[in-house]
Amino acid sequence: MNTDDKKQDSNSHQLIHLQKQITQCLLCRDTFGFEPRPIIFGNYNAKIMQISQAPSKTVHETGKPFNDASGRKLRREWYNIADEDFYNPAHFYIASMAHCYPGKAPGQGDRRPPKICAQQWLFQEMALVQNEIYIVIGSYAAEALFPGEKITALAFADRRINGKPAYILPHPSPLNVKWFKDYPQFEQARIPHIQNEVHKILDI
Ligand code: SF4
Repeated sequence: MNTDDKKQDSNSHQLIHLQKQITQCLLCRDTFGFEPRPIIFGNYNAKIMQISQAPSKTVHETGKPFNDASGRKLRREWYNIADEDFYNPAHFYIASMAHCYPGKAPGQGDRRPPKICAQQWLFQEMALVQNEIYIVIGSYAAEALFPGEKITALAFADRRINGKPAYILPHPSPLNVKWFKDYPQFEQARIPHIQNEVHKILDI
């Protein structure tokens, strides 16, 4: 086994161990007021690392990431890929600022993801996954990974994380309809560019 193979083998084992720890994590049980259900998907050699905010209630109930209206828009309209290409652990590592659904906020929407999750888990996952590009979804994740910058500017620029290309998307949630109306050029001009990068990386 050469040095590269040994590193890959080590990353793979470390990530599997980390994922087992995440699966058992109950750190936010008291904050949530219900049993956390960490959602994990992807292999150490996934080509795309996707980082979003937190699972929705539907994802919490089904255990399947992006198995909701936001996910359908993301997969079918924005990436324009088949479900089997999205739910392929060698294609996508599906991570988020929090691995668990955090519960409903008063009024519309979900609570913000607990900050502890990224500090405890996400940054370790980012160090182990050998992805080629990042896709960051939603203002919460974008503004956490690019402190001091706003989603509206980030969504229109090619950026880098850890030296790798990074593309930033607004949240595809139906609740975000005002942003899509205010910035129609995002879906007209920016999505075709990002879609092309996704197809190129996945060779589809
Ligand atoms: S959100 Fe993260 S830190 Fe909190 S219980 Fe879930 S896995 Fe643990």
